[in-house]
Amino acid sequence: MFWLGHLLTGVFVLALGWRWARSGVPVGRAMRRLRRLLWLSIGAKGLAWGALYVQGAPPYPPLAALGLLLSAGQTVLEFAAIFGRLYPRERTERGLTLPRCAYLLLRLRPVLDALAPLLAVGLAGLTAHYTLSGLYRDWGGWGALTASAMGLGALLLTLGLTLRPAPLPVRAVSVAPSLLAEAQRLGAELGVPVREILVLDGARTRTANAFALCGGRIALTDTLLAALTERELHAVLAHEVAHLAQRRRLIRLWGLLTLAGIALALASAPLWEHLPHGGLIAWMVALALGMFLPLLRLRRLHEREADAFAVSQYGAEPLSSALRTLAALHPRDAHKAGDALHPSLHERLERLQRFQKRAPDTPSANP
Ligand SMILES: [Zn+2]
Repeated sequence: MFWLGHLLTGVFVLALGWRWARSGVPVGRAMRRLRRLLWLSIGAKGLAWGALYVQGAPPYPPLAALGLLLSAGQTVLEFAAIFGRLYPRERTERGLTLPRCAYLLLRLRPVLDALAPLLAVGLAGLTAHYTLSGLYRDWGGWGALTASAMGLGALLLTLGLTLRPAPLPVRAVSVAPSLLAEAQRLGAELGVPVREILVLDGARTRTANAFALCGGRIALTDTLLAALTERELHAVLAHEVAHLAQRRRLIRLWGLLTLAGIALALASAPLWEHLPHGGLIAWMVALALGMFLPLLRLRRLHEREADAFAVSQYGAEPLSSALRTLAALHPRDAHKAGDALHPSLHERLERLQRFQKRAPDTPSANP
């Protein structure tokens, strides 16, 4: 019954995705809808798993772990099929040059990114339940083996998420030395070294964007380099250099939250057996949210601080005009938030405007 519902969810997601990937829908809109569809697909499956547990028929933890992997596998297959349909359209309509395999890897990355932390948390929870409740002893040597395999799986997923290198389409060109020098000056202001500025192929990533990478590196797409003036580029660089400097604070908070989560899980383990059905799930969800929400809050704050640093260096105008130019390259609703971290263009420009009013003596872009 559970798996029938699970498969039907897949069919529904596939039908919806197939419809949105048809030729009448602009590719940009289809992509935005597919992002929401991914969370719908994951959410529906999560509900099915929750219902299975609350009904009082939770499968044996190793079987549940296997089920979770199959469940994630089905989600990947659903989106592989949908993106497979979108591929020829992206080639003809957006001039994408990637071969099909590389294209699917690129497009499925956000799907894997969304699934991996959930899988890691699920596997870790099942392992904790399996070992702390003593259930693993029922299976003798196999019990210990499956418990270690599950724990190792959770650990490897977590490590893979934190350590994986990003396969970036780096172009074999370098930026003007003055740009790197300016980025290094900004880094010195914040006490963070800036080692390299990479240029990414904007035609392959289909974006004009900038990223703060690990190891003191900043990446800009060639589309962004071509579209912005030097002053605007400096403002964008200042925003990214601020992100480099904020990373230590983010990692510290992440470490603290992880330790607190593990300590809390161990301390409350003796209570788990007395929890009603669904209690354990509610507890796990609360724990996951307790770890996730402070990180999200800090990263949103970081976005505002990064904008503020750029303004403190060059005034509000260069960043505002850079944001407006980039928004014109990728038209979207100015009142809608870009993603979970970035506020809408409208809100960001309004805040920058406030900076300008508060500090009338900031240097102007047009003297
Ligand atoms: Zn940012």
